[in-house]
Amino acid sequence: MKSVTVIGASLAGLYAARALRAQGYDGHLTIVGAEQHLPYDRPPLSKGFLTAPATAPDTGTASAETASAEAQLALTDAEEIAGLDAAWLLGTRATGLDPHRRAIRLDTGRTLTTDGVVLATGAAPRRLPGPAPAGSHTLRTLDDARALRADLTGGGPARVVVIGGGFIGAEVAASCAALGHQVTVVEAAPLPLVPQLGHTMAELCARLHGDHGVALLTGTGVRGLRSAGGDDRVTAVELADGRLLPADVVVTGIGVRPATGWLEGSGLPLGDGVRCDAGCVTPIPAVVAAGDVAQVAGARAEHWTNATEQAATAVHNLLAGHTARTHHALPYFWSDQYGVRIQFAGRYRPGDVPRIVEGSPDDRSFLARYERDGRTTAVLALNRPRPFMRLRRELARAVQPAATA
Ligand code: FAD
Ligand code: NAP
Repeated sequence: MKSVTVIGASLAGLYAARALRAQGYDGHLTIVGAEQHLPYDRPPLSKGFLTAPATAPDTGTASAETASAEAQLALTDAEEIAGLDAAWLLGTRATGLDPHRRAIRLDTGRTLTTDGVVLATGAAPRRLPGPAPAGSHTLRTLDDARALRADLTGGGPARVVVIGGGFIGAEVAASCAALGHQVTVVEAAPLPLVPQLGHTMAELCARLHGDHGVALLTGTGVRGLRSAGGDDRVTAVELADGRLLPADVVVTGIGVRPATGWLEGSGLPLGDGVRCDAGCVTPIPAVVAAGDVAQVAGARAEHWTNATEQAATAVHNLLAGHTARTHHALPYFWSDQYGVRIQFAGRYRPGDVPRIVEGSPDDRSFLARYERDGRTTAVLALNRPRPFMRLRRELARAVQPAATA
């Protein structure tokens, strides 16, 4: 293999590039990224980044705190960039792929041909139908976060409505509450985070909103956004049951779709993401996928650690020319909400029974094991990082990666 092209210059793309070089690949490496930015970290965008002031009050220019918050997002540095020896095509979108010829069409009109392809195009937010007036936001990119932060830190206390009580919703609500805004979260399901945590633990996590004066309205969807004024600014959220919630700022976090639109017509199997085997390999061995865009052995994950781990597996198999290694890592994610670190490892399935083994929900600090047939299937912690890591390691030993060739 003399040339490899990575599509998507973010977390999975960067980790794929690192893995290629670490695994001894010394051919041409091209990294194509739709955003203008070098790889940066998304998790802070809904957390500390939002609460850093957008502008210095005296000059109206970016404050030192803002500049420092942005610098801290960088996933790589000049020394690593030089070491990776890659051609970075940033601000460039891939628009099509012929996987047999390994020809990649770009929105610049250029076509790249390459020996190996790593698909790492992630996911994009689902949007509400209808127009998006000023003051309404989704949050995926640094540019989204800059725009949202400017709306949240530009004036006094605002009425913020967050649509969706999942990860984005809960974290943004917590950041808005920390900024002193009046926050309401609207969630379509009877309770948020039930698919991830099960009902009992999801209910304990949902209490965090109330602790911090954030209203959680569940079991109702949204009919649309109302707007007014010359700049067509959002004024209210209309709920499916007809209620109107006045709003100065609206943030919609109702899930994401894998970024596979550009692969329509490529012949690659697309379902909920690019369908791959357990080694992140598509039916064409020279095309592999990793991160939020990859549906690996039927499952797609949308978390940081997964993107980094899959990248190494995908690249290993790309260089091997077949599925030599499979991805069996224990799923893990964390979420920071209202000063509480939530950590979860494993897979929750309905019927698994959580048991608190340390701490107390009343203190918002506990460790819980999920059990099924006497076995631990998952672990959850609120503000118990050390014992959590111990149990996570124990669980991980049970799912060691297997070599198949
Ligand atoms: P992405 O990070 O989405 O990157 C894909 C890149 O590909 C993007 O830069 C995109 O512009 C580019 N791209 C898309 N289409 C094309 C194309 N056609 N051509 C070229 N480039 C293209 N996970 C956790 O575990 N814990 C957290 O606390 C956490 N917090 C988060 C907070 C926020 C605000 C967000 C948005 C995500 C958070 N996540 C968190 C999830 C985590 O960031 C993602 O799982 C991770 O970013 C996935 O990496 P990826 O490289 O697969 O995809
Ligand atoms: P998410 O976690 O899937 O949550 C979306 C929530 O919105 C779900 O509870 C969903 O309910 C609800 N919803 C859907 N349609 C709705 C509607 N019309 N009105 C009200 N509620 C609605 O997605 P997300 O919070 O948007 O996050 C986006 C991505 O970023 C995900 O990939 C997520 O994993 C990632 N992220 C991760 C973290 C973390 O790991 N800490 C932090 C931030 C972001 P239903 O389930 O009933 O549809």
